[in-house]
Amino acid sequence: MKQSQLDELVAKIIETNVCQDLAKQATQLVMGDGNPDADIILIGEAPGKKEDETGKPFVGASGKFLDQMLQSAGMHREDVYITNIVKYRPPNNRDPTKAEKAEFWPYLLKQLDIIQPKVIITLGRHSGMNFIPDLVISRDHGQSKDVTLHDTTYYVIPLYHPAAALYNGSMRQTLIDDFVAASKLV
Ligand code: URA
Repeated sequence: MKQSQLDELVAKIIETNVCQDLAKQATQLVMGDGNPDADIILIGEAPGKKEDETGKPFVGASGKFLDQMLQSAGMHREDVYITNIVKYRPPNNRDPTKAEKAEFWPYLLKQLDIIQPKVIITLGRHSGMNFIPDLVISRDHGQSKDVTLHDTTYYVIPLYHPAAALYNGSMRQTLIDDFVAASKLV
C-alpha cells in the first residue's frame, strides 16, 4: 500500500522532470530502501557512485558503517526506511545545490506523508539544516527537536554523517551512541 504510493511518487518525479540536469547524468533515481512502515526514517544528502549504480541509498562505504550503527541498536535495514534529500547523484559527488534541494523538498515531504515515521534522523549537517535551519552539528547532534511539517510533528534527531566518522574513532562511537539513543525513542 505505502510502497505503491511511493512508486507513484517516483513516477511523478520522473514525469515532472525534477532536477532534469542531474537526472540526465545519473544512472537512475534513488528513492529509498528499507521498510516504508518503519517508525524511523534516516535521511542523507544525495546518492553517491555505488548508490547511483545500485539504485539504493547508503550502500557504499558510509552505508557499511550505517549498517553497523543499526546492528549496534539491534536493528537491520528492514527495521528503518532510508532515503536522501536529493534523489539523483550529483556529478563527481559534489554537494547538491540549494536549488536542487529545494526542487526535491516537496517530494520529500510527500514521502514523509506516505511513510508517517515518528522519528526523522538526519545524517550530516547538510541534511540536518533542511529541518533545523540553525543547526550546529557539534552542539546539537543526538538531541531531539520537535519539527512540524505538513501539520505533522516529528522528532528530528540530527546525527553526524557516517562518512565523516569512517576514519575518526571517537566520532564513530558518538554516532553509534547517538543512534542507539535515538532508536529508543520509538
Ligand atoms: N551519502 C549520502 O548522503 N547518501 C547516500 O545515499 C550515500 C552516501
